[in-house]
Amino acid sequence: MTHFPIFADLRDQPCLVVGGGAVAARKVDRLLEASARITVNAPELCAELCARAASGQIRHVRGEFDPSLVDASLLIIAATSDEGINRRVAAAAARSRRLCNVVDDGDLSTCVVPAVVDRSPVVVAIGTNGQSPVLARQLRQQIETWLPSRIGELAAWAGTWRTAVQARIRTHAGRLRFWERVFDGAPARDVLAGDRDSADDRMRSLLEAEAGPDSNAGAAWFVGAGPGDPGLITRRGMQLLQSADVIMHDRLVSSDILEFARRDARLVPVGKSPGAPSTAQAAINEQLVNLVAAGHRVCRLKGGDPFVFGRGAEEIGAVAAAGHPYEVVPGITAANGCAAAAGIPLTDRQLSSAVTLFTAHRTGEEEPDWELLARSSHTLVVYMGVRSLPDTCRRLMLHGRSPATPAALIENGTTPRQRVVGGTLENIDRLAADAGIDSPALLIIGEVVGLADRLRWLNEAEACLRPTARAAH
Ligand code: SAH
Repeated sequence: MTHFPIFADLRDQPCLVVGGGAVAARKVDRLLEASARITVNAPELCAELCARAASGQIRHVRGEFDPSLVDASLLIIAATSDEGINRRVAAAAARSRRLCNVVDDGDLSTCVVPAVVDRSPVVVAIGTNGQSPVLARQLRQQIETWLPSRIGELAAWAGTWRTAVQARIRTHAGRLRFWERVFDGAPARDVLAGDRDSADDRMRSLLEAEAGPDSNAGAAWFVGAGPGDPGLITRRGMQLLQSADVIMHDRLVSSDILEFARRDARLVPVGKSPGAPSTAQAAINEQLVNLVAAGHRVCRLKGGDPFVFGRGAEEIGAVAAAGHPYEVVPGITAANGCAAAAGIPLTDRQLSSAVTLFTAHRTGEEEPDWELLARSSHTLVVYMGVRSLPDTCRRLMLHGRSPATPAALIENGTTPRQRVVGGTLENIDRLAADAGIDSPALLIIGEVVGLADRLRWLNEAEACLRPTARAAH
């Protein structure tokens, strides 16, 4: 960023516009909106500026550029079509250390005027450091359509409550939270819908509740971050991620998603990744409970869904046992994400009427019912299964699943690093080893795998596809 963005209060401040044509008139309009005291220096004025001078809205200093006017002005705008004059204006402004904008000349300017969406008191300014005014204008149009029409009213309404909120909630952090709740919730929705009375009622009860002992209590939010693509987190998840004070995240959660955290939020990486130092579950639980007890709002961000091989229940148990509030926000689990990204339907009217998610990484967990899993109409999705891949396949075949059952291994599904290896129960372990597939990877087994859009990933493994699966296309 080369320019410092700033909103300047120009009410009754002396500003100089050099030039008297249509471009100068546009700049004068903007300065008048800001209630500046304007002097226009030009030999002649266009009709519009003449009218403004006649009605006393601007002062006209007739004649060529007069450098002595610069010293008395806070801001100078050079809007003539003569480059020589514009240069002299810029030089005089530089000598007097005044901010100067030369229209359409970023090099000569010490400040640029942004494109503006004005829903006062909400004003959105868009700058491109003078590089591309057209792009700025296009962005402005997009923001115009996106921004709620009553957003200005919302800001003004909030302004009427500021003193009351300040009097009731003593700490800065407490007020910050309170306002976030107001803008996220029903009071803001009411104002945006034009119902200020209802918004005021809600505000009164919210403020009353604030006096209670729990007003500044922390909370834990168990948020599913989805399988990797930052577009695949839910809106609720994103909202909580953006308002959390602390984010405890699994190592699997991509940095693209963490980008959305508040700038001042603390990021705490926890959890396990194969081959890397990991934080023991008990230590995670303890750290989480301590942070919440200290009044922090902690977003416990987990890959996929918090309740699918996410140990969500254990952590919630610890938070609940300590008497703290919590919320669970579901996420798109790896099975859904990877299946979609690889073009594999998990069920199919003809081929599969059941899906089982299971993990082959068993530490003291119950032995899966291999008999059941081996049934041919059953789609199987195996989490954390890279290392035990040969064993999983062998057991399924041993219990009667056909060696020719299509299988696919998806590494880093939904991310730009996604790789998919396709084969059969009999050879997928060898193909995966040849391709060097590593964690995180998800194994999908079943006739449905044969339905996948083969062009997307099965080109090399084409030969391994069962003829019947091909025929099903
Ligand atoms: N709670 C998570 C699962 C955590 S267990 C969820 O709901 O998805 C971690 C395992 O999930 C990994 O070993 C891998 O098998 C799978 N996994 C998670 N993200 C994945 C991804 N982007 N691509 C492939 N597998 C993934």
